[in-house]
Amino acid sequence: MTTLPATRRPDLKTALPGPRSQEIMARDAARLSTSYVRPYAFVPDHGNGAWLTDVDGNTMLDFFAGIAVSTAGYNHPHIVKAISEQAGKFMHVCLSDYPQEPTTLLAERLLKHVEKPGEPWRAFFGNSGAEAVEAAIKLARHHTGRSHVISTLGSFHGRTYGALTLTGSKTKYKRGFGPMLPAVTHVPYPNPFRPPFNSTPEHCGDAVLDHLKMLFQTVIPADEVAAFIIEPMQGEGGYIVPPMGFLKKLRHLCDQNGILLIFDEVQSGMGRTGKMFSFQHSLEYGGVQPDIITLAKGMASGMPISAMLAKESVMTWPKGSHGSTFGGNPVSAAAALATLDLLEGVVKHPECGDNLMDNAAMVGAFLLTELKAMQAAFPFLGDVRGKGMFIGLEFVDAHGQPDGALRDRLSQAMFNAGLLNLDCGESVIRVSPPLILTLAEAKTGLEIMREVFRREQERRG
Ligand code: PLP
Repeated sequence: MTTLPATRRPDLKTALPGPRSQEIMARDAARLSTSYVRPYAFVPDHGNGAWLTDVDGNTMLDFFAGIAVSTAGYNHPHIVKAISEQAGKFMHVCLSDYPQEPTTLLAERLLKHVEKPGEPWRAFFGNSGAEAVEAAIKLARHHTGRSHVISTLGSFHGRTYGALTLTGSKTKYKRGFGPMLPAVTHVPYPNPFRPPFNSTPEHCGDAVLDHLKMLFQTVIPADEVAAFIIEPMQGEGGYIVPPMGFLKKLRHLCDQNGILLIFDEVQSGMGRTGKMFSFQHSLEYGGVQPDIITLAKGMASGMPISAMLAKESVMTWPKGSHGSTFGGNPVSAAAALATLDLLEGVVKHPECGDNLMDNAAMVGAFLLTELKAMQAAFPFLGDVRGKGMFIGLEFVDAHGQPDGALRDRLSQAMFNAGLLNLDCGESVIRVSPPLILTLAEAKTGLEIMREVFRREQERRG
């Protein structure tokens, strides 16, 4: 256990939700789409750093960053300045038709993180993760002249028809919306905590690839497969880290069959795991290079923008074949450049060392160690896994099976104690705070979690 002081605690001035929140929640419930989930009674008013204050003046610590989006937290002066300056210049001139400096610079700076000598890449910009995924599937089909796409169970790739078809996490996303895109097959994700095909944590990746090879021999001609799309670390499905050698073997199988490899880094990318992209952890295992990368969420610390990066040798679609009115918006691009400044350490954030990527690695490692210690103390915390600030806590029943009801109860208890958090998978809470989270703030969050777990333990007697 660390001796670090927890400097600041959540400040709850009313019962949750407070009166003003209740009023807005009622109006929201009456007028907004019935599809919105609303699991937590919190109506944000303003934020600062890793803290969010609601319309009743209740201040909470943020351990979910608007689903891994608010890289630089809230109201970051460097991001706000970049947005205001660009907004004062121009806010839109369609990027499909006119080149512009913020997006040119953004492409140059992002691509530096993937390019190898002699192998240039190019960038396409959209507005959302789903749009980046749509662009990736379209490019893969266009470039290969093949139609089939392989995806994974547990995956989340977005809610537009192509991305939704690839999504494999929950039937509720698809029920009533069919038919989906044809020629998409899902294979299990190599989850070491729940290894598919009765395999082992170490060999679950091999088991998935054996299954895929069997499909290639029986039902899917491999030479009709355009792409395999995968989250190098699975987000919505439960914050799962595959066995590290897996991506390299997958790359090899794709190469053998002329299949493009798409890494969906929408949730795991942009420094969250302690590296710019989560697949770069595979460097420890000899390295892997995909053909296409999709990015969104954390790119611009909350401004909407997404990117589909592809090898120049793959980005062969002709002028006019794909585009977007708003994609690559210059204000969002300015926010993305400012976010990169902080991630790369071009601009330093006080208390966060050299750069936000290192901070994610360092504070994330601290969180992981402390949470693993809690796992040892609380039997219902079945698994603690992750890299950097991409951490999953899986809750289990007495038989080691996923316990979603327990997860929901604990998640609400954390929320009621002032810790914003979010579920994922069947019985997982994701820990995905803003990357500016300090060690002291991490400790505050851990104290809240420990207290919630302790009370659960006590309740069980
Ligand atoms: N891909 C991944 C890995 C995601 O986690 C998400 C969203 O959660 C998406 C794609 C879709 O992104 P968006 O909601 O911005 O369309």
